[in-house]
Amino acid sequence: MPAMASLSVRVVGVGDAFTARYHNACLLFETRSTRLLVDAPPALARALRDLSVAHPQEPPVSLDDIDHVLITHLHGDHVGGLEQLLFWRRFVTGKKANLYAVPEVLAGLWETRLRGGMETLIDAPGGPPRTLGLEDYAFVHPLGPGENAIGDVALAHRPTIHHIPTSAIRVRAGERVIGYSADTAFDPTLIDWLSASDVFFHETNLGVHTPLASLAGLPGEVRARMRLIHYPDFLDVETSPILCLREGERIEV
Ligand SMILES: [Zn+2]
Repeated sequence: MPAMASLSVRVVGVGDAFTARYHNACLLFETRSTRLLVDAPPALARALRDLSVAHPQEPPVSLDDIDHVLITHLHGDHVGGLEQLLFWRRFVTGKKANLYAVPEVLAGLWETRLRGGMETLIDAPGGPPRTLGLEDYAFVHPLGPGENAIGDVALAHRPTIHHIPTSAIRVRAGERVIGYSADTAFDPTLIDWLSASDVFFHETNLGVHTPLASLAGLPGEVRARMRLIHYPDFLDVETSPILCLREGERIEV
């Protein structure tokens, strides 16, 4: 074990928006005292259970073990499980989670993704309805410029090229850094930024996403620290020119 703060990621999901094979892309960053979930795909509790069942040597993780959750952007494959997480924490265990996103993402999170199912509650059948807001469910933390403290990690972010506001991130614990592109078109400036990590995860897919051929053309020292995520179901992970993240594995730096 390194003497300095260790940093690792457990891979919850590697799939894209249309996957029938995997869980949607989702990462669990861990240090000795901090668990940060990056994105909350649909059926989050199931994804976490699968992570735990497939790797019984690792500590099990449930919705209750996620104290910090960051949303990179508002597409359903990245945010569709947040309602489950927040409802569980409010009604079952009464532990508010800490929720992080850039202001542009937070601005739409409640109004366009959560409000319809979460704003009005009744405590008992026939009882009066109550009106709640996002702050009733979570401690909401808009990400500022530079590094943001989340538990004992420092998180930096920058925008990517995507349909809607989306954040790539670098998570640092001491001298250790792990990066994640989130959803993006091919962007060499983003890859330069992510390359300041010990290891980083990059999406690849069709359409507006990053072509695998573009990543395969990068210098060897960059590719060596890159792992693929958000890849299509048809990608052959055994013959991919860049190593693919696998669900359940732990990447430690
Ligand atoms: Zn997206």
